[in-house]
Amino acid sequence: MSPDPETLATVISNETGLEFTGSTGTDDEGHRWIALTPADHDPTHTFAIRIRLEWRRLSIGFESGKFAGPLLEAMSDAEKDARAVFRSVMQDCEQHGAVITIQPNGKDHSYGDNDMWNEAWNRLTFGIRKGNIELGAEDGIPDGQLVREWTSRFVAAVVALLPLEEHEPSDVEGFPEAAIQKVTVNRYERDRRNRSAALAIHGCSCTVCGMNFEDSYGLAAAGFIEIHHVVPVSEVAENYVIDPRYDLAPLCSNCHSVAHRRSPPFTIEELRGFLAKRDTQTS
Ligand SMILES: [Zn+2]
Ligand SMILES: [Zn+2]
Repeated sequence: MSPDPETLATVISNETGLEFTGSTGTDDEGHRWIALTPADHDPTHTFAIRIRLEWRRLSIGFESGKFAGPLLEAMSDAEKDARAVFRSVMQDCEQHGAVITIQPNGKDHSYGDNDMWNEAWNRLTFGIRKGNIELGAEDGIPDGQLVREWTSRFVAAVVALLPLEEHEPSDVEGFPEAAIQKVTVNRYERDRRNRSAALAIHGCSCTVCGMNFEDSYGLAAAGFIEIHHVVPVSEVAENYVIDPRYDLAPLCSNCHSVAHRRSPPFTIEELRGFLAKRDTQTS
């Protein structure tokens, strides 16, 4: 199954909370590409994410617009938390076998380099390549799924560095009305960048019960899941830098509500235990 740009744009928009438009074409070498660009923005002032599908190889790159200087400068000025999320997602990409290229102002860096942030960026080469991938295979993981997983990771890294504007808590946290009153919505969970990173790393299925909104409700619910902070924010220090790999967990609305029936919340293991107990009782 070949990935289509509209579906990919929908999924990535849902995951990141930023609206993307998808397009597709073929390059000089005959390789198919898909591009995602922020919707309702002049592309020359923003960027495109270009995904190239080659034989057994996938490459995804950040392409800045001609007049994206201010955006790049803002990205190089990303705060400590944002850089930590960026690194965390990059680490996840590396663990999954991707080769990462990052060259701010034409200088080669590793994603963990601290001095990468020392000077303002005026140009940026940034991309990942994943070889030995089952792209185009008749059986195995469908192309669409592979493209989606990798695009999700790459976009989460980009989103981590974007200057984000204030937004409504409801569209990010995704709490049901009743839960909003009970749960102290905090600046960590509210953060769109953390959400994208958590989904890129953990996927969109519930960590406790495995429920996947898209499987149940179709494309309208693709990329939807609530993000739970494993350690209650009230218990972490003010300057604590969260790591989406360990501190955040995607939960379905049911499991999330139950988690917060207690304060501090039930742990993932406890919640899984409840379901296991139910399963043994009913069988
Ligand atoms: Zn669940
Ligand atoms: Zn929560």
